[in-house]
Amino acid sequence: MDLFEKCREFTIARIAQASGMYPYFIPIENSEGTEAIIDGRRVLMFGSNNYLGLTMDPRVRQAALEALEEYGPSCTGSRLANGTLELHLELEKRLASFVGKESALVFSTGYQVNLGVISCLIGRGDTVFTDKEDHASIVDGCMLSLGELRRFSHNNVEHFERILKAMDGDCGKLLVVDGVYSVGGDLAPLPELVEVCKQYDVRFMVDDAHSIGVMGNGRGTPHHFGVTDDIDLIMGTFSKSFASLGGFIAGDEDIIHYIQHHARSLIFSAAIPAANAATALAALDIMENEPERVEALHEIADRWRSGLIELGFRTGNSVTPIVPIHIGELEPTVFAWKSLFDAGIYTNCFVPPGTPEGQSLLRTSVIATHTKDHIDQALEIIAGVGKELGLID
Ligand code: PMP
Repeated sequence: MDLFEKCREFTIARIAQASGMYPYFIPIENSEGTEAIIDGRRVLMFGSNNYLGLTMDPRVRQAALEALEEYGPSCTGSRLANGTLELHLELEKRLASFVGKESALVFSTGYQVNLGVISCLIGRGDTVFTDKEDHASIVDGCMLSLGELRRFSHNNVEHFERILKAMDGDCGKLLVVDGVYSVGGDLAPLPELVEVCKQYDVRFMVDDAHSIGVMGNGRGTPHHFGVTDDIDLIMGTFSKSFASLGGFIAGDEDIIHYIQHHARSLIFSAAIPAANAATALAALDIMENEPERVEALHEIADRWRSGLIELGFRTGNSVTPIVPIHIGELEPTVFAWKSLFDAGIYTNCFVPPGTPEGQSLLRTSVIATHTKDHIDQALEIIAGVGKELGLID
């Protein structure tokens, strides 16, 4: 039996590529944040995670350039061995204080945070609880751990509690949820989950990848809900609002100390280069000093979401800059993606196995630097495409 047989039999992506209906791995020639050049054409960017528009901010770019000049392009090793810079420590201190925790630890990506933190905390005999719509990196962190994984239906606090009630015997327990769900753009009900966690002795970790820079004046969902002290661990990434690459975990000093010496994805992977750390620091300065950016982001998101709803599109429970357009079946979703792309709007196409069967959608997201004009232009285009494809009346 040839191990590679499955690779040769994997043809669906090639068929889509040949027909020009392939929505993934699209090379971007140039990007100004809200607009990008793809295949020589200008498109409006409605499919990035650049929520605060900081990838184009001159202060952020300058900070990256200076750090590159000073430290060079790589740390060439892991934080533990030889890759810790003073910049990493400064960033950790600033992040901990920003999200309201004692201590923070910077990893090379957000994905590696979830992988390393969950797998090093959940040992044999422990149980980790997740929401069915949690990000893949949380699921992978759970699968890498030696404990048991129990999942509850999306945002269903009662289901979570039912699972806890039915458990017998004592064990270490951790709940991990997204603060803002990365595709639905809805919020986790943190205060209700906190109550259940307290009652059943469950530690609580929130993945705030899409929330920091966005919710709670930029400080994330625990701050938004006023429950920071009740959340044990707050995770964030630099690949979205921070306009960089990397991730972090924040919590009590003794827990972070343990993670620092046990998380394999931290210990056995190279540290982020100085330019990435300096970028994140510069972005953090802006988040702290320019709260009006976050306000602008929500204003523009509200205009986009309510415009779509008025046109007759279904945007689910989104209350954030992530606004899904629910279509349903796979084929019309890919057609809608392609028609919008050809008409000059970049969105992300989510189909099974990325979504449940029959729940395909286009994920759209806005940027604080989108103008009202951008939004109105995009609404006009999407109205035309939606009517042409029979998605709206
Ligand atoms: N958590 C969530 C909710 C995410 O959406 C992502 C990235 N899409 C990650 C974690 C991983 O972050 P990173 O890109 O830094 O690896």
